[in-house]
Amino acid sequence: MSFARFSATSDVYVYQPVSDPTGIECCGCHLAMIDGGGSTCPVLHGVEEVARHMWLHEQASDLVPAGLLDRVERHYAGDEDAGFGDGRPSAST
Ligand SMILES: [Zn+2]
Repeated sequence: MSFARFSATSDVYVYQPVSDPTGIECCGCHLAMIDGGGSTCPVLHGVEEVARHMWLHEQASDLVPAGLLDRVERHYAGDEDAGFGDGRPSAST
C-alpha cells in the first residue's frame, strides 16, 4: 500500500514496506544524509515521524501531496483503504 508516488505533484514515494508493516518507508529519499540515517529509504514509525520527515522535504522545496498525512493518519487509525492499493488508480488528492 502506498500513500504517495513520484508524480507531477509529488517528489516523495511513501509506502508501507512488507518487511516492516508498522513502518512507513520514504523510498528514493534524497534526505538520506539529513534525516535517513544514511539510508535512501528511511523507515518512519508513526504519524508524527512521518509529519516531521515530510516537513523536512517541504523545507527542501520538495512537493509533498496535500492528502498524504491524512492518509497516513487514517492508516495508523486502522483504515485499510487509506492508501493506494496495488494496481488501483491513485486518488486525485
Ligand atoms: Zn524522505
